[in-house]
Amino acid sequence: MLFRSDALIGVFSVQSVLANAYGPREQGLLHTLAGYVAIAVDNAHAWREQQRTLEALREAQAALERASLTDPLTGLWNRRFIEPRIDAAARRLAAPPAGGDPPLSLLMLDLDHFKRINDEHGHAVGDQALRAVAQALQAELRPADLAARWGGEEFIVAAFDTDLAGATRLAERIRLAVAALQLPAGPGAPLRMSCSVGVAAFPTWPARPTAQPWKHALALADRALYAAKAAQRNAVWCALPGAMPQADALHRPASELLSQGHVTLLSARS
Ligand code: GH3
Ligand code: MG
Ligand code: MG
Repeated sequence: MLFRSDALIGVFSVQSVLANAYGPREQGLLHTLAGYVAIAVDNAHAWREQQRTLEALREAQAALERASLTDPLTGLWNRRFIEPRIDAAARRLAAPPAGGDPPLSLLMLDLDHFKRINDEHGHAVGDQALRAVAQALQAELRPADLAARWGGEEFIVAAFDTDLAGATRLAERIRLAVAALQLPAGPGAPLRMSCSVGVAAFPTWPARPTAQPWKHALALADRALYAAKAAQRNAVWCALPGAMPQADALHRPASELLSQGHVTLLSARS
């Protein structure tokens, strides 16, 4: 790296070599020139420093942004990241000419009796189990799908261009992958886990995509999850739409769609 002092030494060496060849006026000009060269070198050095600082700032900003969008324990995305992505996909599905595109499916996954794992093996093993589940979950997804930690021991998957049947198969694969995990947990047998999954597609009726907010479909997936919990756990349930209701019923919340029989909750094994 060239510093101002190097530049000055360089120019003064040239100056001393040429001292005999030029008169005092030329030497004065040479001296002024040396000053300008030194300033130019200084500026170049400062500019490079500035570029390095800017680059470091950009990297720090990108790392900070990524940290604010991911879950520090599992490395999966968090709600802040996934919600706007689902929002955007849902808006695309509802935009004209809507009605023929493959839907977006939502999977809600909750670990079964997870509190017991913490109680029996400690919180650190519980954390390790959450990380292992996140990895197993991610391994089942296609690159375009998104998985996020939704809350404590609850995860969400957004499977794009995937209908209810495809999403139910995916959920079943994830359930089996979680059930196959074996974690070392002290001297005894390895730790095993299971999960329950609820699945719903958005739009519920693809022929009428504009009427329903995607959060209604998420609420249906949540209802399906709790049906799986109530039944036997370690299970996948889905929200199966019946015949399309009248237009005014399309935007109704999950509870009404279920209570009025427009949507039925069904075990994937049935
Ligand atoms: P269910 O089958 O009905 O879902 O039972 P559950 O025990 O899984 O559900 P519950 O809601 O009673 O307990 C969830 C547990 O998850 C309690 C909480 O301590 C644990 N949990 C949530 N977040 C974390 C975490 O980051 N690390 C660990 N180790 N445990 C967590
Ligand atoms: Mg649970
Ligand atoms: Mg839970």
